[in-house]
Amino acid sequence: MRGMEKKLKLITYGCQMNVADSERMAGLLRQIGYALTDDLDAADLILINTCCVRATAEDKVFGQIGRFKTLKRLKPELILGVAGCMAQKEGANLIKRAPHVDFVLGTGQSSEVARVVQSLEHERKHFVDTSNVSGEIGAEVFPLRGGCVTTFVPIMYGCNNFCTYCIVPYVRGRERSRKPEEIFAEVEQAVAEGFKEITLLGQNVNSYAGGMTFAELLSAVDKISGVERLRFMTSHPKDLSDELIAAIAGGKNICEHIHLPVQYGSDKILRRMNRVYTVEKYLRLVEKIRAAIPNVSLTTDLIVGFPGETDADFSETLDFLRAVKFDAAFTFIYSKRSGTPAANFENQIDDELKHRRLDALMKVQNEISLEKNRALVDSVVEVLVEGASKTDEKIFMGRTRSNKLVLFAHGAERAGDLVDVKISQAQTWLLKGIRN
Ligand code: SF4
Repeated sequence: MRGMEKKLKLITYGCQMNVADSERMAGLLRQIGYALTDDLDAADLILINTCCVRATAEDKVFGQIGRFKTLKRLKPELILGVAGCMAQKEGANLIKRAPHVDFVLGTGQSSEVARVVQSLEHERKHFVDTSNVSGEIGAEVFPLRGGCVTTFVPIMYGCNNFCTYCIVPYVRGRERSRKPEEIFAEVEQAVAEGFKEITLLGQNVNSYAGGMTFAELLSAVDKISGVERLRFMTSHPKDLSDELIAAIAGGKNICEHIHLPVQYGSDKILRRMNRVYTVEKYLRLVEKIRAAIPNVSLTTDLIVGFPGETDADFSETLDFLRAVKFDAAFTFIYSKRSGTPAANFENQIDDELKHRRLDALMKVQNEISLEKNRALVDSVVEVLVEGASKTDEKIFMGRTRSNKLVLFAHGAERAGDLVDVKISQAQTWLLKGIRN
C-alpha cells in the first residue's frame, strides 16, 4: 500500500503564471496522497510544467526529459508527466520524441491531473489531452503554495492580444476572468496561511472582466485584512486606465510599482508587433503615472532583434530608454515561434547582430538602473523580509515596495517582518543597507 507515502517532484519552467499553475496541480495531487519532494530518486511521480515562449525554454525541457530516461529504466513504476504551454503546443509529439513520458496535459487540462495520475497508477498507457485550451483550474482547488511570505493569485487566464511574436494566445487560449468571490476567498486563504504579499496575476490584468473592473478588484483586495502588500502583473499599456492609476495612488497597501512591458521603442516595430500603441502614447502614460504616483517604480520588458529591425529603429529604442529611465528592464532576444505571424516576416535578424544589440541595450539600461539605485543611498526604505540570502546565512534579503532587492545584516528579523533599512550601497540589480 502506498497511501500517504507517494512523492511528487514538481519541476516548473517559465513565468509566474506557471508557478501558480504548478501550485494548483500540487494541490490537486495532494488530494490523492502525493507530498512534494526535492529528491528525484524518491519520486513516484515527476511532473514537468513547461514554457514555450522562447526556443531556449523548450530546449531546456527536452534536455530535462531526456535525462529522466535512465531513471525510468531503473524505476519503471515511476510516472513521468509533462504539462503547461509546451505540452499544449507539442501534444502527442512529445511522446513520439520521448516515449518514456507517460502523460501530456495541455494548459486547459491541468485540473485533470489527479484523475489522469490515478488512472495511470492502475493501468499504464500513454495519455495525451490538449483538447481544451480554454479550460481552467476552478475555485475548488486549494493550491499547495511554495515559499512563506509572498505568493501569486491568478485572476484570469489566456490572452486576446495576439502580439505577432507571442505564442501565449495559442497555448493558453482566450481571456477568461475568475469571479471576484473566488479571488477574495483565495487571497483570504493565503493570508490565513501566513503570506504577507499577494501578487494578482494575469497575462493582461487590465482587461479583467469578472463583473468589476481591475481597478475595483485591486481596491477590494487591498481592503482584505492581513494583505500587507499587494502587487499585480502584467499590464498591457493599451489598457492601463486612469481609474487604475487612481486606485494605486489612493491604495493602502498597493505597492508603487508597475511592470509595463513596452517591448520596443520605435513606432514601426511596435506596429509590426501589433502592440496597438505608439511611443508617444506610452510616454504620455508614463508622465500621467509619475504625476499621480510620485514614488512609482517602473519596469519593463524589451525585445531586440525583431524581424525588420534597422539600426535606426534600434537607436530610437536606446533614446526611448534614456528618456523614460525605467528602474529596471528585462531584455530578451527575439525568438522565432512557429505558428506566430512574426515567424514568417521577412528580414529576420541574424544571431550575431541580435546579441550585439542586446549587449548595447543592456549597457544603457544598466547605467540607468544604477543611477536610479544610487539615488536611494542614505534613504530609509521599508523592506519585507523574505529570508536568508542564498549565499550567506548572516545576510537577509527582502524587497522594497518598489520591488527592489535589498540585502542587509541579519539581526532578530524573521521572514515576513516589515523592517526599515537605511541604504548604504547601490548596485545595478540590488541595494545593500543596515537596519535603521
Ligand atoms: S499581451 Fe501580447 S505579449 Fe502579452 S501574452 Fe498577450 S499576446 Fe503575448
